[in-house]
Amino acid sequence: MIRALFSTFAVLALFAAPAMAQQRAVAVTFDDLPYQAADAILCDPEASMALTTRFVDMLRPLDTRAAVFVNEGKVCEAQRADLLPRILNVWLDAGLELGNHTFSHINVHRTTAEAWLADADQGAVITRQVLKARGQRLHWFRHPYLFTGDTPEKKAAMAAGLAERGYDVAPVTIDNNDWMFAAVYRQAEAAGDEALKTRIGEAYVAHMTTVLNHFEPYSAELTGGREPAQVLLLHANSLNQDWYPQIHALYLARGYRFVSLGEALQDPIYAHADDYVRAAGISWLHRWTSTDGRPIRWEPEPPKWITDAYAAL
Ligand SMILES: [Zn+2]
Repeated sequence: MIRALFSTFAVLALFAAPAMAQQRAVAVTFDDLPYQAADAILCDPEASMALTTRFVDMLRPLDTRAAVFVNEGKVCEAQRADLLPRILNVWLDAGLELGNHTFSHINVHRTTAEAWLADADQGAVITRQVLKARGQRLHWFRHPYLFTGDTPEKKAAMAAGLAERGYDVAPVTIDNNDWMFAAVYRQAEAAGDEALKTRIGEAYVAHMTTVLNHFEPYSAELTGGREPAQVLLLHANSLNQDWYPQIHALYLARGYRFVSLGEALQDPIYAHADDYVRAAGISWLHRWTSTDGRPIRWEPEPPKWITDAYAAL
């Protein structure tokens, strides 16, 4: 009988292993809307609508439940009032959530907390109107460059200003420097070099694997062995237009469920204190590890040929 029970447990354990892996969860976020592209494209209503529609069409069947973060100032002033609501409504029609990423993607290290908050206010105008028309409220906020303040006073003033305005900060746990691959990819695109584009895309997907291999066990050290719900930072750009489906498939293969940002942030890890104050935009996993008094273990950098190509741009 004991043996029979034991073997039953063994069989259950076999089934339980993949079921446990299914508990992984990730909220996907795309920053720098409308798009990471040349200014001329962002001032051309037809071109920027086409980029947006194509990107959202790519995402829709994948059911990412993503949240996306807008820099209103990236759209030329002359076009903004008319074009930006149209662009934002494409995202909302696909069931994606909008957040504020400041007006000008302002670098807080070069200004005051007051000026930074004013830029955040300026960046909310059209997004708020578009959400209001649907009975929704603008509440998500993502720090540009993930910079949360380079002095304790500034960090406190920024956090208090965001809280006063009713924002919920969207932290990031998994950052894979997609923007760097994307900049190199744009150059290959401009040169019409399809072979190079493929090589960059494949390196990008491979790098995501490397980064997950680092962050998954690292994140579990914060929670006594349980991997918390992750928040992935990506950007709206041509690299992800072409390669995000493979990133998505990679997460599915590793047992992730795609959850909304709000759902991910219900994980208790997001209530962890963050006393990290430096001029650095880093994963919240590093901030919490540092706050706990343990040494930060940095994630792997993109391959050298990518960082070299980026430096040479
Ligand atoms: Zn950004």
